[in-house]
Amino acid sequence: MKNSLLPAFDSIEKRFAQDSAKRLLSGFDEQLSGLSVLNRDWAYWDELYNHMLRPNKAFESSNIGPPAMSTSNLNAVLFIDRKGRPAGFGARALGNGLMPRQEDLVEPLQRRWVGQPVPAQSTQCGLTFMQKVLAAVCWTPIVHSDGRGASVGVVVMARELNDSALAVIAQNAGAAFSIEPHTGPPTAAAPALLTWELPKFLHFANRSLTALYDASSITLRYQLQDLEAQPLAWVRMRLERNLAAQAQHIVSDVAVQLAVVALATGLVLLLTVHLWLVRPIRRLHADLASLTASRRWDSVLAYDRPDEIGALTQGVNALLQVLGEQVEALETLSSTDALTGIANRRQFDERLAYEFVRLARRPAPLSLLLLDVDHFKRYNDLYGHPMGDIALQKIGGLLQKFCRQQDLPARIGGEEFALLLPETDAAGAIALAEKLRQALHGLAIVHDHSPTDPLVTASIGIATWGSDHRGEASALLLQADEALYSAKRSGRNRVCHRRYPDLPAH
Ligand code: GH3
Ligand code: MG
Ligand code: MG
Repeated sequence: MKNSLLPAFDSIEKRFAQDSAKRLLSGFDEQLSGLSVLNRDWAYWDELYNHMLRPNKAFESSNIGPPAMSTSNLNAVLFIDRKGRPAGFGARALGNGLMPRQEDLVEPLQRRWVGQPVPAQSTQCGLTFMQKVLAAVCWTPIVHSDGRGASVGVVVMARELNDSALAVIAQNAGAAFSIEPHTGPPTAAAPALLTWELPKFLHFANRSLTALYDASSITLRYQLQDLEAQPLAWVRMRLERNLAAQAQHIVSDVAVQLAVVALATGLVLLLTVHLWLVRPIRRLHADLASLTASRRWDSVLAYDRPDEIGALTQGVNALLQVLGEQVEALETLSSTDALTGIANRRQFDERLAYEFVRLARRPAPLSLLLLDVDHFKRYNDLYGHPMGDIALQKIGGLLQKFCRQQDLPARIGGEEFALLLPETDAAGAIALAEKLRQALHGLAIVHDHSPTDPLVTASIGIATWGSDHRGEASALLLQADEALYSAKRSGRNRVCHRRYPDLPAH
């Protein structure tokens, strides 16, 4: 802003300075023009023409005597004859009280015409110093009023540029100025000194104006030249650079305002970004963190926004659904026995541990059946492993059929099964085991190499947590295993309870 505004103000100031200078010098020009008109009138005046041919005292006293000079506001009038000799002179006191001298006018003009005929040309004007007073001077060859014939001399007029004339010039220019004697060209630091060309004037040949810039003002200098175009004096004009100073203020004020606006906008933007983006993203992040910690993949994150964050939350929910389904499938796979489709050892152990946690809170009977197929190695050896698998599948299916909803059938080893019976006492478990043993026999899976029975049989060991036992899960398992071992040892195809080791086989 500073870079674009300040040059603009600079150029406005420059234009203003140039215009002021133009008005000022036009003021001088007009003063000369005013005198020029009067001078020309005289030059075409027949009475003066006749006077130049036949000098007449009465004419002189009535036209260039003191009252006439005062009336026409002239300080000097000089008639020069055809040969360049003074032929009449009228004078009026200057502002400094001194009288103009005839030689002040004769000298410069005579120098022009020495040895030359008086030129029959139009009026010319210029400036000169008379008795150290600046004055406008005009001269015109005197001719007959019809303009014909040779000139009979020259009429020269001088009018002091007195204080009131200079005041009029200053008023028209709108700026104060001073006139200083010529002391050579202005000296100043080169970069600050500019030279501008002014438009053409009627009476001044010099068109160059120098401008000297400093931080607070512009000083303009114009060289006034005398009748022979020699340096005469300087017109000096000083203009305050108010505009530049004001521009500096405006620029700094606007800069401060812009900074405040930018700061406020930044804060609003920051707040908006925080409310609309950072906070919801943090909330989403916290939700995901707690979800990861709880591993509850069936959760659904709340979303109520129609924007990208809402879409992101929906995307996360879709992912969670896929993840939940996959976790569920994996859990099923990892807790299920692939051959029989019932629970595997892992699920059995977890459920047994869980039941013991429950028992600690609310004691109730809990029975555990361990079932081991009798002489199954021989079965495999005789019928082959695939047939052995089919037999194991049938036994798994049978166990499932015997279960209530709260019971858990599981395959916990090669041909070893378990049945966990919550809220089932020893008597109930023995009865169920017996029915199971008979049902297996009822499946009538032929086993020709079994020394126990021609059909596939199993031995069942039972242990019950309750009045007779208050140990841990591992202890219950160990007791059921011992009961199973008892069943095997006492002839297989039978049910053995820890408390009743010798349950008879049927
Ligand atoms: P016991 O009456 O003393 O239990 O004799 P057993 O032959 O059943 O016991 P043993 O521990 O000697 O043999 C178990 C056999 O069970 C060995 C193996 O061939 C069979 N078996 C274990 N797992 C599988 C299985 O997944 N499929 C099949 N087909 N057979 C299996
Ligand atoms: Mg076994
Ligand atoms: Mg066995």
